[in-house]
Amino acid sequence: MQAGRPSVAVPSTVHCDHLIQAKAGAVADLNEAVDKNKEVYDFLASVSNKYGIGFWKPGAGIIHQVLLENYAFPGGLMIGTDSHTPNAGGLGMIAIGVGGADACDVMAGLPWELKMPRLIGVHLTGRLSGWASAKDVILKVAGILTVKGGTDAILEYFGDGARQLSATGKSTICNMGAEIGATTSLFGYDASMAAYLRGTGREDLAEWTEALAEELTGDPEVYARPQDYFDQVIEINLDELEPHINGPFTPDLAWPLSQFAEAVRTNGWPSKLDVGLIGSCTNSSYEDISRSASIAAQAASKNLKARSEFTITPGSEMVRYTVERDGMLEQFDAIGGVVLANACGPCIGQWARHSDDPNRKNSIITSFNRNFAKRNDGNPNTHAFVASPEIVTALAIAGDLTFNPLTDTLLNTEGVQVKLDEPQGLSFPPRGFAVEDAGYQAPADNGTEVKVQVRPDSDRLQLLEPFSPWEGHDLMDLRLLIKAQGKCTTDHISMAGPWLKFRGHLDNISNNMLIGAVNAFNGQTNHVYNPMNETYGPVPDVQRAFKAAGVGTVVVGDENYGEGSSREHAAMEPRHLGVRVILVRSFARIHETNLKKQGMLALTFANKADYDLIQEHDRMDLLGLTTMRPGQPLQMVLRHLDGSAHTITLNHSYNETQLAWFRAGGALNIIRQNAGKAS
Ligand code: SF4
Repeated sequence: MQAGRPSVAVPSTVHCDHLIQAKAGAVADLNEAVDKNKEVYDFLASVSNKYGIGFWKPGAGIIHQVLLENYAFPGGLMIGTDSHTPNAGGLGMIAIGVGGADACDVMAGLPWELKMPRLIGVHLTGRLSGWASAKDVILKVAGILTVKGGTDAILEYFGDGARQLSATGKSTICNMGAEIGATTSLFGYDASMAAYLRGTGREDLAEWTEALAEELTGDPEVYARPQDYFDQVIEINLDELEPHINGPFTPDLAWPLSQFAEAVRTNGWPSKLDVGLIGSCTNSSYEDISRSASIAAQAASKNLKARSEFTITPGSEMVRYTVERDGMLEQFDAIGGVVLANACGPCIGQWARHSDDPNRKNSIITSFNRNFAKRNDGNPNTHAFVASPEIVTALAIAGDLTFNPLTDTLLNTEGVQVKLDEPQGLSFPPRGFAVEDAGYQAPADNGTEVKVQVRPDSDRLQLLEPFSPWEGHDLMDLRLLIKAQGKCTTDHISMAGPWLKFRGHLDNISNNMLIGAVNAFNGQTNHVYNPMNETYGPVPDVQRAFKAAGVGTVVVGDENYGEGSSREHAAMEPRHLGVRVILVRSFARIHETNLKKQGMLALTFANKADYDLIQEHDRMDLLGLTTMRPGQPLQMVLRHLDGSAHTITLNHSYNETQLAWFRAGGALNIIRQNAGKAS
């Protein structure tokens, strides 16, 4: 709308998967979401219709599964405003998660840039068998590399072990590369990709990729001597790979299944399992659901029911329709499983969870990708673990986190001890995929007459006002808003769940800014010092008071600040509320770019120990902005309450283009200026 174009410059789609709350089951939940969010869905549908964007309606599926089934192809390049966009790497596509501002630029015809990443090779040998699945590959990799180990890196999986994985299994691995901070992950082309293209009705693409097979994978010498070509090489033998369970609270705390029960007991995690959830964009393919359904079917035949609550989320309407036709939903139903709408649901906190006591420590296990505190149900007492769909299904049947389906038995309703057999699954439905209404709306051929409407009194939608440009001088007498301690993901900065409904209204959603971050001075969340009235208050309230008083503020953070979702609101909210500087030990890539795009100053301590010098009552002067250049550090003077002072050095990674965004007050202001010049 701001760029003045009649239609988007590159093929683009919109997906409505984040706003459907899981409560009673697929049909009721979808109807309620369509009713409650009508204004937002109508807005998105009309914008898509007007500007040549394909629109996937609510209930059509989760974005990454829909992309895999319809758009991803080997050798392509795609960006998406979600950190799990690399899911398409399972089809050999370079698919990268970016912030909304980056995507808008590309849709408006601007180029997109990325600092050349490092390359990490993951050599897979052997063959998966039994209970081990593709999910366990990435759970193990997350344990090796940790949530930061893939930062500024592309992971490429190769080897005999890679070739025997299905395309959707490969996608599971690439999807969760986001959890180790990877720029993207991918597999070189192999026959599984052509098979998936054919299975999803894209015969022509399958033929083209087969003809270009050699060009769509690494050169033989690279795979023969990976140490010469990759910055780091990881070896994994799939013959020896155990199923893994990762968590709680972080996806890189990796436990081989044989060690997990002991870890539960040693750490005092609740062993009673309250809920098992399968689905999410990571693990909701036909193959995932068929393997889990095979366990449900044999459990029913052995007189077992799920002792935990158990939910199933198909990844798309095509998957849902097909698994229903093939009898799998009945198999889940027979053991007490509840099928949810084809959407993100509990994975993004859209979950009206029934709980007897929210203060009780409790455990859930999911086949999702993220398990940060509060992510699924907003409850800090929930210990969320991540595993493959088949392990989640087995543990939901057992109702016990310490159950190991490889070795343990369960008492059935007849009083007999029974053992679960290994899961069986199929990559493709034997009768082919089917769907009646996939949920797609094509845009108008000519959208000039289509009206986009936003009610001025809406509390869900608000047209963006341009941010102010930089004043042209150093920033003096800034105050500290919060010094965040430890993990501060974009979920901590801009919480999801009930807040998602305000994503189209920047002022309203800003009331969640940093409410999940832990204040380093008192260990509490959403409780920071307000020097204007010398009391403590919620972070958004205190920041609004600073803004009203015309006082610029600084947010200080720890390592990997802004990891997790690509959520641009985590950058837009501080910008909107008047925070001037985000100063951290290190940034997660997408969040750092998002901040730059919004015209914020995203700075790092040159000496990480200087984080400890920041005091609650500090006044801060940021010096060097008028001569700010790429690679040239800035200085900050910290004036402490006791009259002492420190001068510290701050680094930045702005290039000339990004400095122009800062000076203009944000990248969008530059697009707007250019659109004005063009017209
Ligand atoms: S919210 Fe969950 S299911 Fe939805 S796109 Fe993000 S990670 Fe995937």
